[in-house]
Order: sequence, then C-alpha cells, then structure tokens
Amino acid sequence: MRARIAAALDWLGRQTLPLRCLVCDEAGSDGLDLCADCHAALPWNDAACPGCALPLPADEPAARCGACLREPPRQAAAAAAFVYTAPVDQLLLRFKFHQDLAAGRLLSQLMLQRVPAFASGALLPLPLHRQRLRARGYDQALELARPLARSLQCPLWHGLSRERLTAPQSDLDADARRRNVRNAFTVTAGPPSRLTVVDDVMTTGATLDAAVRALRRAGAAQVHLWVCARVP
Ligand SMILES: [Zn+2]
Ligand SMILES: [Zn+2]
Repeated sequence: MRARIAAALDWLGRQTLPLRCLVCDEAGSDGLDLCADCHAALPWNDAACPGCALPLPADEPAARCGACLREPPRQAAAAAAFVYTAPVDQLLLRFKFHQDLAAGRLLSQLMLQRVPAFASGALLPLPLHRQRLRARGYDQALELARPLARSLQCPLWHGLSRERLTAPQSDLDADARRRNVRNAFTVTAGPPSRLTVVDDVMTTGATLDAAVRALRRAGAAQVHLWVCARVP
C-alpha cells in the first residue's frame, strides 16, 4: 500500500513539478532529476573487468581481473554502470529501502547512457522472494529493468523464481554468501538462449552467480549480467 501511494505521488510529481536534482536539490537538466554538475561528477565504472565488472585501474582497459583469469565466471560478460560509491550508493539505498521510486527512475535513465554491447535479447530482472516483495511493495530489479526493456525494445523474461528465502547477504562473508544462495533459484520455463540478468547492486556476485548457474543448467547458452553499481 505504502509503495502504491509512493508510486502515485511520484507519478503526480512528474506531471506537475519541474526536474529537481536528487543529489543536491538544484534544478535538474537534460530531462533528468539530476543537475549538470552532479551528472559530471558521477562515478561511472568505465574501466572494468569485462567478466565480472570489477572496477580496474584506467590504464588496464578490457583486461580480465585476476579472479576471472584464475576461474572464468559462469556469465559470458558483466557490466555495471557505476562504481558503488557516492552519490550512487545513497540513491540506491533511497530507492531500495525508502520507497524513493524517483531515484530508481533516474538510475535506470543513467544506465541507458552506458548500454553494454551484449544487452540485446531478453532482459531478466533478478527476482525477489515473494516475502521480501510483500514487505517492500515493489521489486527494485524489475523497476530498473522495465524502462531499460522499453527503451531498448527487448522483451522481459520472467522464468526464474526465488523459491528459498535466504538470509540478507549483507550480514555474511564471501563464503557464507555463496552457501546462503546455493539453490535459491528455480527456472520455471525454458530460457531463451541469450539473456541478460538485471539487478541493482553486485557485491561479491554470489547471488547473481547462483542465478546464472540455474539458467545455464536449464539450457541458456549465454547469460550476461547488467547491474547499476558494482562494489569494488
Ligand atoms: Zn545536483
Ligand atoms: Zn573479473
């Protein structure tokens, strides 16, 4: 209910209010709720490992990171629009935990300014467990993916479900994260051979890896990851 009211107010605000920078409260520019100065200071993740989107030093572009060289990831490629740092981290927290759908809309508009080359074919928003969805009222990955799919004219595919409620990953170390999400996902329909999983944040990548694993086992030939921000 709270989310529905927030969405209605957000819609109403868009019809009536001028664009406003969600970072510094100055006037927005370029059709975004973001001013030109804040836009110029965004932490784009432009030099990153193409296998796992880990931010890398700018003088090593397109090189795979040590971890991906040691053990190639299950996904065919990964991209993150941003490094998870200010002000994107705050925007993501507002979007995820404080019903700030305007922040989510801004972030997906910004993701469209760095569309990875692999993002054709179906998009799959990483599903939330229904219990979390009920508590939050909306699914943040779906809110990000829907405008991406609309702009890129890609279909959304919903054949992955999260059957097992897992402990919040933020409380766990890397090994515990992997154990926590093992078998968390079930594929409920034959996947397209090429698809891109969309999510808000990639930290160790354990949750996304579990999703890719389930999709690959179900027959998806190429699975890509596209997230808003990557934790270094
Ligand atoms: Zn600003
Ligand atoms: Zn990597």
